[in-house]
Amino acid sequence: MAQIPESVANVVADGDAILVLSGFSGSPQTPIGLRVSTHALSLASPTFKNTFANAKPLTDTEGEATPPIIVDLLDEDADAMYILVNILHLRNDKLPTHLPPSGLRRLAILAQKYACVVAASRATVHWFDRLYFNTTTSSGPIETWSIIEAAYLFDEATFFARFTTAWILKQSLHTKQIPLATTAETQKLALMLAERQSQAQILLRRDIDMLADACAFTFSKDKIHYIDYAPGLSPDPDEGRQAVTCPVDSEGAKEYLGALRDAKIWPSVVWEDHSLSSSNGGRKDITIGDMVDRIKAFREPEYDDCDKCEFCEDVRLTFVETLQGKREEQEKRLWGLCLDCFKAGVARAGGECRVEHA
Ligand SMILES: [Zn+2]
Ligand SMILES: [Zn+2]
Repeated sequence: MAQIPESVANVVADGDAILVLSGFSGSPQTPIGLRVSTHALSLASPTFKNTFANAKPLTDTEGEATPPIIVDLLDEDADAMYILVNILHLRNDKLPTHLPPSGLRRLAILAQKYACVVAASRATVHWFDRLYFNTTTSSGPIETWSIIEAAYLFDEATFFARFTTAWILKQSLHTKQIPLATTAETQKLALMLAERQSQAQILLRRDIDMLADACAFTFSKDKIHYIDYAPGLSPDPDEGRQAVTCPVDSEGAKEYLGALRDAKIWPSVVWEDHSLSSSNGGRKDITIGDMVDRIKAFREPEYDDCDKCEFCEDVRLTFVETLQGKREEQEKRLWGLCLDCFKAGVARAGGECRVEHA
């Protein structure tokens, strides 16, 4: 027969049930009771409703006018349950101001198990928000993945997009990483995220290729021209003019390519930054985010093209426009995943989703 534990905390003082939990981080060995209202929990969670329907009230309690229902939940995650029942009783005063990534995930797993994601999720927004703005507690890919799992289970579209993006930007430009799923539901998500990482690597390489090509095209055969002559034409010897290849575009292109190389953007052999080292002393792999930052910080060199002739292609304009365009694209690009598209199993038009994306 279930017993009322010696220590009972009131979630609600006149609650008609006591949930018995053990394994609280503060006192892992001692079972602690949480006095709750079956009405409040049943409204939010069909699982709780079932549990209470099958539980019997104590018959021999002293001093209790109506004996409480005792529910043995010794196998549940006690810390997460404490937070969950407080949320479901609207006890916002009992909620911690901060929840670490693993705590948020544990709460999400429990809310899912008790089928009360909708009722619980609104209270979690400020924890996601804090984690998003506090990079010290959510900085590593492992912590970020915990938050992604939580956002997925809580159906939090905005933070799901933000944290999958943060995860992608923290990944290597070279290798593929599959995060370790902690629940069956997030298994597919882990694979999808790794796939997204590969796509991001391809997109980024293509962006960089386009920057280089905004210079390299000037070296192509059909752009080389003599000053004031269209490509393929040469000055008439009778005019007595010297045939000089027009250098304006190609000189500019060399300047820009050199600057891209100095900024470690192009070619890929200059990507690795040997001054970066990881916390364990090894060499830090360059990340997708590092490269996006380099492109953002890149300042194109001043190039004076006042000598250009009418057959020049205007490499300065082409390069600057390509650079601006790529920066804007990268700024707007959803590097991570859209929760609605992921759940639908197809990439949908951005307007149909809760998060705006291309
Ligand atoms: Zn020219
Ligand atoms: Zn979408």
